[in-house]
Amino acid sequence: MNAVVLATRNPHKIRELARILSPYGIDPASLDDWPDLPDVAETGTTFAENALLKARAVASATGMVAIADDSGLVVDALNGMPGVLSARWAGRHGDDAANLSLVLAQLADVDDSRRGAAFVCAAAAVAPSGESVVVEGRVDGSLLRSARGSGGFGYDPIFVPSGETRTTAEMSAQEKDALSHRGKAFRALVPRLTELLGTVE
Ligand code: IMP
Repeated sequence: MNAVVLATRNPHKIRELARILSPYGIDPASLDDWPDLPDVAETGTTFAENALLKARAVASATGMVAIADDSGLVVDALNGMPGVLSARWAGRHGDDAANLSLVLAQLADVDDSRRGAAFVCAAAAVAPSGESVVVEGRVDGSLLRSARGSGGFGYDPIFVPSGETRTTAEMSAQEKDALSHRGKAFRALVPRLTELLGTVE
């Protein structure tokens, strides 16, 4: 199934989504085929709004069904921030090391019992007609005081899912996909995406 385009240029997300979707026979086209498409401003206040913004812009520019991910880290002691600002928390979009260091510094005085956090992912699909679906996935856990592991990306080296002892950066790719916010959201999206594709083909 290649009638779908993935509305992201983030190489980490592209890799994870290719793995998560391939068992369903979904092999989305990449935005590399549309090098001139400008990045979509993420002006929404929720993950779902931003995922829909990205998918909608790419669906209308390409004429294909577009799928998009908007995701981030929600920290209890920071009242749910960085949230939709996760990618630019330290000020520069996509500076994963600076973002992680800033969260660690902000939580330096927060004791172990109050270090709860979750990763949240909104997965959206939009048809060129504008018809859309959006679903969310979430994984709860807690934040360490220093980074561990070299897998994954972003805040993975400080995030330990509930019931686990390892960070998501210490897990294999398959282990992370099985419990991750992105895995849950996109596995839930697949049947809705199939319905949406049925309306355009
Ligand atoms: P987005 O591109 O606006 O959706 O921003 C996503 C940001 O949230 C990333 O840059 C990471 O900082 C963080 N994030 C999202 N998913 C993950 C994950 O699976 N592991 C670690 N960090 C993540």
